[in-house]
Amino acid sequence: MNETFDFVVVGSGGGSMCAALALRAAGKSVLILEKTDLVGGTTAISGGVMWIPDNRFMKSEGIHDSPEQAIAYLDAVVGDHDDTPGASRERRRAYVEQAPQMIDFLVSQGIRLRRIPSWPDYYAAPGESVPGRTVVSELFDINRLGEWKSRLRPGFLPLAANLDEAMELANFKRSWGSKKVIARVIGRTIASRLAGKHLATAGQALQGQMLHAALKAGVELRVNAGARQLVVEDGRVTGVVLETNGAEWRIGARCGVLINAGGFARNQRMLDRYIPGTSTEWSNTARGDTGEMIEEGLRIGAAIAQMDERIGSPMALPPGNPPVKPGMQGDISKPHTIVVDQSGERYMRESSSYMEIARAMRARDTKVPAVPSWMVLDSQYLGKYMLAGTMPGSKKPKQWFEEQFLRRGDTLEALASACNMDPARLRHSVERFNGFVRKGRDEDFHRGDHAYDQWLGDSLHQPSRTLGTIEQGPFFALALYPGDVSTYGGLVTDVHARVLREDGSVIPGLYATGTSTASVMGRASPGAGGSIGPSFTWGYVAARHAIQA
Ligand SMILES: Cc1cc2nc3c(=O)[nH]c(=O)nc-3n(C[C@H](O)[C@H](O)[C@H](O)COP(=O)(O)OP(=O)(O)OC[C@H]3O[C@@H](n4cnc5c(N)ncnc54)[C@H](O)[C@@H]3O)c2cc1C
Repeated sequence: MNETFDFVVVGSGGGSMCAALALRAAGKSVLILEKTDLVGGTTAISGGVMWIPDNRFMKSEGIHDSPEQAIAYLDAVVGDHDDTPGASRERRRAYVEQAPQMIDFLVSQGIRLRRIPSWPDYYAAPGESVPGRTVVSELFDINRLGEWKSRLRPGFLPLAANLDEAMELANFKRSWGSKKVIARVIGRTIASRLAGKHLATAGQALQGQMLHAALKAGVELRVNAGARQLVVEDGRVTGVVLETNGAEWRIGARCGVLINAGGFARNQRMLDRYIPGTSTEWSNTARGDTGEMIEEGLRIGAAIAQMDERIGSPMALPPGNPPVKPGMQGDISKPHTIVVDQSGERYMRESSSYMEIARAMRARDTKVPAVPSWMVLDSQYLGKYMLAGTMPGSKKPKQWFEEQFLRRGDTLEALASACNMDPARLRHSVERFNGFVRKGRDEDFHRGDHAYDQWLGDSLHQPSRTLGTIEQGPFFALALYPGDVSTYGGLVTDVHARVLREDGSVIPGLYATGTSTASVMGRASPGAGGSIGPSFTWGYVAARHAIQA
């Protein structure tokens, strides 16, 4: 070995810095290797929400939850399936037990967290929490990172606003409550800039805080340092190999190696093999999400599973190819819009979870062309709601029309012909939906029946937050793709986050977490934070095991 640490972490994703902090607290030396020039992975781009059952913030706010309730919910939503070994009953239970402890540990390390007051679980199932089980970062002044500030990956929301505040901003023309929120955010932004601060929010704030704490605790972090191989000696993983300036550099790890190198949403070859029909172009993951450490695990005998699974998310692809493509779930669940396949037929509950929406699109596409599908909306929608990241109102970028990103028709028939849909079928879909709106009940897909649907909708729209007629021309449509925010399959791990072989035996010295693994949530996302919560938690679990081993 060219050098040796107690523990080496591959990738600077969600669980990496959490594991590193736990190891440093036990006096172990830790090195984090990050392949790209920026720290934080997709976690830094994200909302930074963690799904943590029975967490300390629920307790302090008097919101009822219990491990039994959370287990009942995961039993119902995730369930027991032979092809999802990452989501075994034992792992689900271990998650429910360890996740709140991980949060307590972070708080003890000075990480400032909170919960979002309302973010219902995604499924109407026994044990669901309607207030929700979310834990997020407080806003964080990234100037505190000093020279590391420029090494932190930017987030998707360049505002000094908490997520719950950001969700209010689009209503500023219609609600005094929203006007107050805007005033608060603007006031905070000005005051913090005058004080020489740069407040980050969401995933960037979370990873900024983690990076700050990790550096302070003496974690060593290297960027532009991609691991290429695992070193295996007598069946045990004892280090990693990097390639620097064309030469091999071998780094030993006395207590273990943790893979937290993300999934493979940016690797078209792997997508074609495991999730055919999907594209790297539809992904909002960080560029380094290329899956080589999953393949490296496979090479040394690790088991992989759930490789066909992904955290799908409906995406629009506006001209100009923005770095973070607009996720459209919030848009399509508002009143005055529906989603139809390429023939013009409605086929889904538009206000379900992003994962279910993208799954419905791909499933529909096996029967009739539905990739892309069309989001169809009317002028009432355009006036009231954000569309693909633009503020409410009929003024949209000229390029949107020139490049046919947003299509327009004075009548539904004209819109159908602009999109090559069957005019009669589109009119039938719209009229049937309008009939449900008037009855106050979506008899086809039950849009609006669950707390989560209502939460996604428009809190100012009566009597239903998500059902509103599509009747005022001109009408508009834009193409929706079944994008993703991560893949969800990978290395199979046990209740200690140790990587397993096909025969269920442990590969000594090798741990994994995050989207490099077969998710503990199987084929579901139980609620907001179903990826980052587990990434942090299994990182913490791995560290604790490695300390004792
Ligand atoms: C806009 C957006 C919002 C989202 N919001 C949420 C949310 O609120 N809650 C939630 O749970 N999920 C959310 N997601 C999904 C979530 O962000 C990801 O699933 C999650 O962050 C993945 O985390 P990770 O720990 O697996 O890896 P990542 O955070 O992606 O980190 C992996 C890192 O490993 C590096 N790496 C890869 N290969 C190597 C190598 N060979 N050597 C060294 N380094 C390597 C990568 O460059 C990367 O930096 C969101 C995603 C997006 C895009």
